Amino acid sequence: MASMSRRSLIVALFCCTGLTGCASVRTVPASAHRYRIEVALDPAAHTLTGRTTMDLSLAIPEPSTQTPDEPTTIAFRLHPGLTVRNVTVAGAVVRSHRNLGPDKDSTSKPTPNRHIVTLDHPAETITLFVTYDGTIHQDVSAGEKAGEIHNFDMTAHVGEEGIYLNGAYWHPQPIEGDDATPLADYTLLASPIDGMALVGGGISNPALSEQTGMLTWQSPFPLTDMVLVGGPHDVHKASHGDVSIALHLKPDQAQFRDGLMQAVRRNLDRYEPLIGKYPTTEYTIVDNFFSSGFAFPTFTLLSSAVINMGERSQTAHGYIDHEMLHSWWGNGIMVDPEDGNWCEALTSYATNYYGHVLDGEEDEARRKRRNYAHFLSRMKPERDRPLGTYGQEDGCSRGVSYSKGAAVFHMLAMTIGQDNFWAAMREFTQKFVGRYASWEDIREVCETHGATTLDTFFKQWIRSSGAPTLEITGATYHSADQVLRLDVSQGDTDFDLNVPVRIIHAAGTTDVNVHINQSTQTVELPMAVVPITVELDPDYHVFRKVPSAAILPTTAATRYGDKFTVVLPSDGSPKTYETLRSIFESSFEENERTAIPAGEQNETALAKRCVLVLGDAVRNPYVAAFLSAVEFPVSWDDDGFQVSGVRYDAPDDGILCTIAHPGVPGGGITVVYGNSESGIPKAMNVPMYEHSLVIFDKTKPTVRLDFEKHTTVTVTPAQ
Ligand SMILES: [Zn+2]
Repeated sequence: MASMSRRSLIVALFCCTGLTGCASVRTVPASAHRYRIEVALDPAAHTLTGRTTMDLSLAIPEPSTQTPDEPTTIAFRLHPGLTVRNVTVAGAVVRSHRNLGPDKDSTSKPTPNRHIVTLDHPAETITLFVTYDGTIHQDVSAGEKAGEIHNFDMTAHVGEEGIYLNGAYWHPQPIEGDDATPLADYTLLASPIDGMALVGGGISNPALSEQTGMLTWQSPFPLTDMVLVGGPHDVHKASHGDVSIALHLKPDQAQFRDGLMQAVRRNLDRYEPLIGKYPTTEYTIVDNFFSSGFAFPTFTLLSSAVINMGERSQTAHGYIDHEMLHSWWGNGIMVDPEDGNWCEALTSYATNYYGHVLDGEEDEARRKRRNYAHFLSRMKPERDRPLGTYGQEDGCSRGVSYSKGAAVFHMLAMTIGQDNFWAAMREFTQKFVGRYASWEDIREVCETHGATTLDTFFKQWIRSSGAPTLEITGATYHSADQVLRLDVSQGDTDFDLNVPVRIIHAAGTTDVNVHINQSTQTVELPMAVVPITVELDPDYHVFRKVPSAAILPTTAATRYGDKFTVVLPSDGSPKTYETLRSIFESSFEENERTAIPAGEQNETALAKRCVLVLGDAVRNPYVAAFLSAVEFPVSWDDDGFQVSGVRYDAPDDGILCTIAHPGVPGGGITVVYGNSESGIPKAMNVPMYEHSLVIFDKTKPTVRLDFEKHTTVTVTPAQ
């Protein structure tokens, strides 16, 4: 911590009335290393009253460039709904405080106001006291979008439905130089609110609470910011080892208490041995009033919808386990803003993917690896940017970060050895909690534990875009010298790869790895038995692009390209079908969409466009003829449907099915249908099913199928 050489100069306030004559004054960058934020909130009135104390270091120019009498200004930002009432400083004399209005240099929403404070004779470290109050209120529903799981529009809101203060300058923050936000110590004090439970992004400080009568939180290690949330919740408490667990749930969510507690305990038990001790001593799950799965240093904010999923969100991978691991990666070890965001890729790998490995579900793990490759294969070349650029300006997409990122960490673990990888992650935790870390720091710990250099690996997978397109273009067996010769192509790339090859022969199956590092290459494998077929990497251990005809059809296919047709049902268009229509249409420009009303006929709108068929439109004779012509694997009769010889005629039965559209490369045909309204799958969930076919009973999936194509190559005898 900075030691403060304070001059005891507490100076009068100037509220929003600027003094003139400051034109020549320069603003020096100020960085805060300690904050004390005190707030009182009134949810019914949407108001916040606050007082923030900041210990600041000033980058004061050399005496030669500034005369001793020349004043210095520092600047801070504050939410536009908040009015500064008082500014005082210890360590300088305040000449004036002015609110300059919206700060165009800030990208934060809503645009904060820029305040400047003009000082005489500032010390290099000063303490700034700011009191302020005002209204903080957002239209919560405006940011809720069909098919999206996070409402990223929410930044700062005080209301009876809940409190969410995360960024948006809900407390004053100094304007730094160009460097990364310095990590700081935070103390947050909030007045208790009747009927609301509050949670801050730190660990509670009982002594300070006792002393002040307020709720208090302290950063467990230096942080980039402090956050405060709350809602009309009951608080359930437990502990696991030395970690205190709390659940902040609405009264009607009490039924999920035991399952959630168990999930938190299970994840601690699973991951602490792999990645090191949980970095703090408190962990809370908080029910949230808008769509979210957001992780903060000591708590996770989950949508009510996610909590209300019950067992599924407690045990499925990518929900609670994912958010909990951000306590290590993202909130415990912070992403170095000078480099791309590595924490989503690493967290997705360890939970969304590796959770299945920990469960012993190799089929599911394979499915994830395959889907990562397939889904990214559809990406337009201009959107395919290096994994290492996530979160940076013009950086890669979320899909690259979460999916390719998880696949890249799988390959990294395979390259250095799975156990070595976890040992590297334990060292990463030990070394970097409370600090910024970059991709290079990850490379270093992995190189140490893998005892190998990873320059090439990081260059091709993290610093470069693209992926190889692996193909066996020729396979011959030379019986005289017992050699299998494979011509392997990887398309335009020359990645350095160890590629698994599966060889089927009369005696069974042999899996081998071949090393390639050129765009086309011939490799020779000694084989005592005569091989029949070969298949490249059938289990998708290497992240790669597959040709569009081989991409697994899912709803993503039907949302691809630039032409879309929806065929509407006649049965009163239940709301679910309406929502589904808008979810799919949101992937297309308005002039790319066509809607065919119930009963109308328009064959040309089906032949060369992605197609969504809803409800009883499947029984429209011309739609039925189209589906039959494209060999759609589902058939319908008067009161049900049939798949692979099994008939589903209960009113609660429903189906979601997608096949590749033979007339649209990379595109799809999707049908969503319920035997009655209760059988139609939930619209918001439809885009999230990564399967070709799902059958539902009362909207719960009961059957899941993937229409996957395997590419095996027949081995020919050498001439
Ligand atoms: Zn995440």
